[in-house]
Amino acid sequence: MDKDAELARAWAAAIARRGFVPMGVGELEQLLLSLARRILGPDQPDGREIGAAMVAAHLTDPEALAVTLDVLDAHLPPGPRLSALRGEVASGYAHQLRAVTLAEQEVLARAIIDAQAQVERAARQSEARFGAIFAKAAIGIGISDEHGRIVQVNQALADMLGYRQEEMRGMNVLEMTHPSDPPEMWQQYEKMARGEVDHLRMEKAYYRRDGAVVWTDLTVSQLRDEQGRPQFNVAVIDDVTERHHLQERLRHQATHDPLTGLPNRSLFTDRLAEVVAAAGAGDRLGVCYLDLDGFKRINDTLGHDIGDRLLTMVAERLGECAAERGHLAARMGGDEFVILVEHSAGPDQLAELAEAALRTLDTPVAVGRHRLRVTASIGVVERPAAGADPAEILKAADVTLYRAKAAGRGRWALYDPHAVAAQVARYELSAALPDALDRGEFSLVYQPIVALPDGKLLGMEALVRWNHPRLGTLTPDQFIGLAEETGVIVPLGRQVLWQACREAATWPDRFPGSDVFVSVNLAAAQTHEASLVGDVRQVLAETGLTAGRLQLELTESALMATSGAPLQALHSLADHGVRVAIDDFGTGYSSLAYLRSLPVHALKLPKQFIEGLGVEAADDVRGVDERIVDALIRLAHAIDLTVTAEGVEHQAQADKLCALGCDSAQGWHIAEPTPADDLAALFAG
Ligand code: C2E
Ligand code: CA
Repeated sequence: MDKDAELARAWAAAIARRGFVPMGVGELEQLLLSLARRILGPDQPDGREIGAAMVAAHLTDPEALAVTLDVLDAHLPPGPRLSALRGEVASGYAHQLRAVTLAEQEVLARAIIDAQAQVERAARQSEARFGAIFAKAAIGIGISDEHGRIVQVNQALADMLGYRQEEMRGMNVLEMTHPSDPPEMWQQYEKMARGEVDHLRMEKAYYRRDGAVVWTDLTVSQLRDEQGRPQFNVAVIDDVTERHHLQERLRHQATHDPLTGLPNRSLFTDRLAEVVAAAGAGDRLGVCYLDLDGFKRINDTLGHDIGDRLLTMVAERLGECAAERGHLAARMGGDEFVILVEHSAGPDQLAELAEAALRTLDTPVAVGRHRLRVTASIGVVERPAAGADPAEILKAADVTLYRAKAAGRGRWALYDPHAVAAQVARYELSAALPDALDRGEFSLVYQPIVALPDGKLLGMEALVRWNHPRLGTLTPDQFIGLAEETGVIVPLGRQVLWQACREAATWPDRFPGSDVFVSVNLAAAQTHEASLVGDVRQVLAETGLTAGRLQLELTESALMATSGAPLQALHSLADHGVRVAIDDFGTGYSSLAYLRSLPVHALKLPKQFIEGLGVEAADDVRGVDERIVDALIRLAHAIDLTVTAEGVEHQAQADKLCALGCDSAQGWHIAEPTPADDLAALFAG
């Protein structure tokens, strides 16, 4: 048997098994076969037409629809197409049934009234008279008098609400309220009673006798006696629970993030707009805008699957943290989340919330065999609600978030209107970076690295400057972070490398007898470029700089995160004769054992350790710094590394460094960073 016939046969049998069929089973099967062909045919069937066709064929028995949906479930592959088809069939069926019932409502009502009059005389006879039209309808029908007292309900309505028919007679419709009833509903009823409107229609929920909720499409119309006085209300009630839940689900899907289940950006912005619109004088609101630190890296290194699971866990924790306090948490997209405080008591409340949100992320998240610890940065906005512009609030929160990130990760910052001007500039700078690179707005200054104790010039660190057409000379602190965030650091770093090598290659000719190396800072992202080794070799070959006169500086954290291909690249550069130095040594978490295996030649001690050296006052801090520097120098020498102290501002520091055996130094006391054209004096000593 082909599939169409199989479906039609099962369908007809199921309907016939349940009860009333207004035709022979063979005839029914024929009818259903034509519908089955449409359902299984090559074109996407319109389920509403199928539902309507069933009603047109008088398959209006209450069970017919339920049975049909079961049969569809059993014969079609599960999935969104089946759900959509089910929804359409149910809606087409209900729609057609309603149309038919309403068309006959007048006739129906008259018959009922007639019957009602007779009920008082001869109940049995009345049942017989309107039984066919009233009792057999698959749609609920109820009649109440002008006081709302229920006079008669049909079987479908009694079944729908879980009562027996006689139990419902005598109940009052006014008792059948549900908390979700719109307040206007009963006002509409009164209007109808006054004859101002002659019918009302709405979606209304009822409690079934067992406490469950039935959603209905309710139409009430009024019948008047010959004098025009309201006499009866006829309610036609259609069970739309399934459709209602489907709609709820669709609404939920449209307003929630499928991955984490949290409300999405659209729900959040709608809610924020509502809060602002409803706000009175004195009302305040707050927003915590949260972004995970380094999430992209987790995604890139561990895969999207792990990334997704991490996001789900984070969403769960933030959702709980917000819900405990009665706030709304939403996912704005990517790794950005937001918490809305609708009635803020002031900045302190938001600060507490931000702290709690950071705390809740503190415990590592177990994802598969990984234990991941994520931190987040939060931008907090707290302000009067009335007159606020939702878009401005979000922008302010976002800008503040960036400030929190810039201040170091894992912290929150409170919106400060004064800081915003600078932040806007940050955005502008970030956007201007790529063009600035093309226009050649970057140049280098050089800072000497000299030997201790004799002060012999050993090398020059190349430090980049941005000659901004409007803002003047910008230092790396103002743009390197932006360049790293936007990825511009890679082409910028390459440009710096070329320029530094090109200039350094001219020094032996310009300053005969000198053998000064140039030290170039390398960002972590550059070591991940597969082309790094090739680039460096090409630069050396084309500029004529010998490999031994190039030093690359990597920060400790960049170096420690290096493994696999990037690490091989460093090894191959070191094998080629290029020196590698660890910048800001001691601020990260180097494993000493690991350090030994790295192709490193020098350590650079950061200014913060040098600050406390050689200062006269005998305080604890000084003692600690001195002991640290002492230990670091010993350590470096033990594994054959040389040590450069940075940020030397005073002679006393230089003296102390000499005493501790430090190899070389750099700092304002020795020389400030100097433009390429002014280097002569430095080479002269
Ligand atoms: P860094 O590598 O630690 O460079 C030393 C910084 O300390 C320089 O700041 C230098 O001007 C400053 N400095 C030198 N002597 C003294 C001193 O005695 N006292 C004080 N207070 N500061 C001193 P600059 O040029 O602003 O560079 C800041 C950072 O930007 C550098 O820190 C480096 O990490 C980064 N950077 C600079 N140029 C580049 C580059 O071309 N590429 C990359 N990736 N990073 C760069
Ligand atoms: Ca450096």
